Amino acid sequence: MKLRFLGGAGTVTGSRYLLSDEHHRLLIDCGLYQGVKTLRRRNWAPFPVAPDTVNAVVLTHAHIDHSGYLPALVKQGFRGKVFCTRATHELCDVLLPDAGFLQEEDARYAHHKKFSRHANPEPLFTEKDARAALRHFESLHYHEPFEPVPGFEVTFTPAGHILGSSCVHVHHKASGRTVVFSGDVGRQQDLIMRPPEPIRHADVLVCESTYGDRTHGELDPEQVLADIITRTAGRGGIVLMPAFAVGRAQMLLYVVHKLMGAGRIPKLPVYLNSPMAIKATEIFCRHHKEHKLSQAQCELIDEHTEFVRTVEASMKLDAARYPCIIVSASGMASGGRVLHHLKTLLPNPRNSVVFAGFQAPGTRGDALVHGAESVKIHGEYWPAKAEIHNLDSLSAHGDYQELLTWLDQGVAADGSGLSPRKVFVTHGEPVASDTMRKRLRERFGWDAEVPELFSEVEV
Ligand SMILES: [Zn+2]
Repeated sequence: MKLRFLGGAGTVTGSRYLLSDEHHRLLIDCGLYQGVKTLRRRNWAPFPVAPDTVNAVVLTHAHIDHSGYLPALVKQGFRGKVFCTRATHELCDVLLPDAGFLQEEDARYAHHKKFSRHANPEPLFTEKDARAALRHFESLHYHEPFEPVPGFEVTFTPAGHILGSSCVHVHHKASGRTVVFSGDVGRQQDLIMRPPEPIRHADVLVCESTYGDRTHGELDPEQVLADIITRTAGRGGIVLMPAFAVGRAQMLLYVVHKLMGAGRIPKLPVYLNSPMAIKATEIFCRHHKEHKLSQAQCELIDEHTEFVRTVEASMKLDAARYPCIIVSASGMASGGRVLHHLKTLLPNPRNSVVFAGFQAPGTRGDALVHGAESVKIHGEYWPAKAEIHNLDSLSAHGDYQELLTWLDQGVAADGSGLSPRKVFVTHGEPVASDTMRKRLRERFGWDAEVPELFSEVEV
């Protein structure tokens, strides 16, 4: 069996891994590249293998950097099935058409502004392409082995990152080898997600390293958030939280209502301004057996949050000048309704902007948390005078200590547990991945390597 790194190598986005033997090709994740332009341009390169020669796709989770290239793959001739958990399927139903819509908008905008090299810039894929891709989906339960293609047996185990997220275990029958893809791995003590399930066996492990060189620190994120909100409201300002529509938006709403219920922050109106995050919240609440929140806690979010659905309501909210809390997407401020709020709120020092997780290099979120004095939005520069925070501690990714703890849980004292003969460290910026590689060697003595993009190895 061969493993080829078609993406997610040397960067955190564009996850795509190809497993193949002489008969079949199985793609694990099919993500879009996001962030700096040189990365985004890769989305336009021809797919490294002919899409109609890929037999099936298996997804670790719904985030666009793991699923967002699927409509393009189908458009280019992929005819197989896409396998994932039930919740991942439901979330993709929301995320992929939206991604198509955004691609179409980008193309329209480029055409309008005439900055494209092409007379008629085409979207990478459309909303219609996304809906066509969704017809290839098939969902399964955790711990339920299935054969996406003959000879490859796959099992999902919970990864604790977002609803439906999983580690993908691929057992190749002919060679007897098992390759495990960690996907994105959650926290040991997340506020809403249960911890990732330990991996007990892998011959080869492909492990993420988003925070391979960092820890989230000791600060209590709830207290930090309470302080920011109280301080901002006290000076008559608005707290804006750019959040990933799937995952962190639901966590932030839960924490805000918890703090308010406990009287730790003033009672303020709370808005969720992202049609996608609203749908994701509904899906999250429907699957309450898969996370830590009870149905009653989910209902609390529902009752006390004002869902901003229409464009008119969003514009009206943008004109608000009273203390309130606005959760809006996207999480790295790379697009979506949050941009309008940023234009209004950034120039005023009374307001606060709170990012809650990893900010990919090249995004506005990354620029702002690194102290940019202004950011470009819709072709104009906007001064960043508001208080800016990045609460890494609210991230949906475990830091390196949590990753090591999680891996250690699978290692048995008698040597019968997790003991891969090779680990490939992916899904990280180069320094983070390399630091993680060293830590795996030091802690477990494992043979770890950071693979190069497009490299292929025999496993
Ligand atoms: Zn993710």
